[in-house]
Amino acid sequence: MNKRIVYLDHAATTPLAPEVLEVMLPYFSLQAGNPSSIHQLGRAALHALDDAREQVALVLGCTRREVIFTSGGSEGANLALKGVALAQRARGRGAHLIVSAIEHHAVLHAAEALQTLGFELTLLPVDRNGLVQPSDLQTALRPDTVLVSVMYANNEVGSIQPIPALGAICRAAGVFFHSDAVQAAGALPLDVETLHVDLLSLTGHKCYGPKGVGVLYARRGIPLQPQINGGGQERRRRAGTENVPGIVGFAAALSQAEAQRGAASQRLSHLRDHLITKVLGTIPDSWLNGDPTQRLPNNANLGFAGIEGESLLLLLDQVGICASSGSACTSGSLEPSHVLVAMGLTPEAANGSVRFTLGQTTTSDEVAYLLEVLPPMIARLREVSQ
Ligand SMILES: *Cc1c(COP(=O)(O)O)cnc(C)c1O
Repeated sequence: MNKRIVYLDHAATTPLAPEVLEVMLPYFSLQAGNPSSIHQLGRAALHALDDAREQVALVLGCTRREVIFTSGGSEGANLALKGVALAQRARGRGAHLIVSAIEHHAVLHAAEALQTLGFELTLLPVDRNGLVQPSDLQTALRPDTVLVSVMYANNEVGSIQPIPALGAICRAAGVFFHSDAVQAAGALPLDVETLHVDLLSLTGHKCYGPKGVGVLYARRGIPLQPQINGGGQERRRRAGTENVPGIVGFAAALSQAEAQRGAASQRLSHLRDHLITKVLGTIPDSWLNGDPTQRLPNNANLGFAGIEGESLLLLLDQVGICASSGSACTSGSLEPSHVLVAMGLTPEAANGSVRFTLGQTTTSDEVAYLLEVLPPMIARLREVSQ
């Protein structure tokens, strides 16, 4: 049996960094107070919470009160979209939303849920490389638009959107702008002023932090209707006893990812480019999905004519390589990725695509191993599908 595990699915989740686990541990046991309690253990927890908030604010270039701790990327996106949309409609500001066609389901499905509540939704198209054109956003804006949401970097194809330009358009139109920056943490700058964003969501487990914790940045004064009602935590914007160990871990992970961003991006983009060049050079009828340059440093989404990506994933899994495809198996039928379809790929080409996402522990040996096993696998799959 092959014992070797090569994890090339860092866009799905990342392992917890050992340093992050270390700072979390006391808050599970010795320091397990509730930040709302007035006794010394409560005060210690509140202090840890304040420190974590300060660390996050430093990375985002915002104030502490603009940081809302959440349970992750999905909650952040839901709070941003529903929170702003419902608050704006209640103030008579209209009921039109714009989101890109390649958003994560956390944003897409939150927008669709708002549709059932009477909101109108415009999906922004993307080009062949998965990029939103600022002029398309300009055209889609209406007097009754209350919120625009465009992700910073796409989780499937790694394309990086022109967020500062899109944000400037929204600001000029007086429309609030949210960006799902989950995949950007540790790879791209997160300064909210430079990005011209009013809301930005992050999650711990995509940047070597814990699962089940994240942040929504919400610019001061932005109308936001809470989506979880209860106690007065997070300045009445998100009720519930704070996940203190998670929050402490999130802040440590985000700070570490930001500190290592330059060096990590350089190393990973080098490995990524080697992988892409070799695959395209040695495997006939293969292609790269997503933009060749406006792309996350760790993402290689590759397509192979005449194969099912799902079958390739199974073969890779047999030799210990963990990768992923955008397709979701819904009730037995293979639904092509909505991202690849929005980019203009045929359902067959979309289903022939596989995503490899590298990470902190990925070595050039591991990439070499993938490059060794991949060509015969593709050849074998093409043979059986003849
Ligand atoms: C993973 C992911 C999310 C969801 O984050 P969770 O913390 O798993 O809820 C949202 N957006 C993008 C782009 C993601 O990759």
